[in-house]
Amino acid sequence: MAVASAKPAPRAVARPQNVLIVGVGGQGVIMVSKVLASLCQLQGYDVKQSQVHGMAKRGGTVFSHVRYGERVYSPTIPEGEADVLVALEWAEGMRWLPYLEQKNGTVFVDTQQIVPPFACRNRHRGAVGGYVRETVADIMAHVPNSFALDALGIATALGVPKASNSVLLGAMSTALEFPPDDWKEIIERFVPPKTVQANLKCFDSGRDWALSFDRDGLLEKHAESAPLTVETPREKPDDLSHIDIEANWCKGCDICVRFCPERCLVMNDQQIAEVAYPERCTGCRICEWLCPDFAITVKTPGAVA
Ligand code: SF4
Ligand code: SF4
Repeated sequence: MAVASAKPAPRAVARPQNVLIVGVGGQGVIMVSKVLASLCQLQGYDVKQSQVHGMAKRGGTVFSHVRYGERVYSPTIPEGEADVLVALEWAEGMRWLPYLEQKNGTVFVDTQQIVPPFACRNRHRGAVGGYVRETVADIMAHVPNSFALDALGIATALGVPKASNSVLLGAMSTALEFPPDDWKEIIERFVPPKTVQANLKCFDSGRDWALSFDRDGLLEKHAESAPLTVETPREKPDDLSHIDIEANWCKGCDICVRFCPERCLVMNDQQIAEVAYPERCTGCRICEWLCPDFAITVKTPGAVA
């Protein structure tokens, strides 16, 4: 008697499908990649996945290639052959664009910026940074199937900023063939039990956003937009960077205090970091980048969220 296979027969595809997921350490690139790879496997495809994250501390580059099809021989996606590029960080999205298949490739890019400290070229407030110059309008003009979304903003509005990768998963799901319920089943396996509902909500929101994407509206909104990085000198007090420190998340390690080049921060008598000299802050984001507990958010005036 024939035994029924647990795997469905995979859809016949002419060549492997290539999905490239990029971002920086701490954003959940690997989670997105694992969800996709598991889903492809569950659908009966041969899957190859490769990733680089070993050397990436928080803030370093992380990328993962996922290839699936009837038979896949190589784990890496050649330049110009990614069918889908998913970027959890703006500059990483721009950096990996050459990997996208130029005619029909689809890119989903979060407008979230994580500016590395080495982008800060001098210690004056308002200094020109070395971050990428491309705008939302640029990418939309350059790539026909481009989706620039504020995934972090969507997740934050839902009360779970750390689940912005699930927003990206939801958006990405619209470009791939798998049914939403299958995605959700896999997501449930990869997120902590307490956060399942929040992550599924984020997935739905990302999916809804992509399905109702108003390309013309977004283009109009960003037609005259300046580059994402702020260049104008900040002389007025209300132009200062704003540093939020989430006291409940701060473990008092004092890394931010020691590494802030301008000595803006101090430890208070509760052993929680606080801003003592906001006027000295250059907005370099070193404190945000180095905080192991994600307790610091630096808001730079004029930056696109
Ligand atoms: S680096 Fe983060 S956890 Fe450490 S003192 Fe600063 S805010 Fe607190
Ligand atoms: S407080 Fe943070 S953003 Fe401001 S100068 Fe210090 S390290 Fe840089």
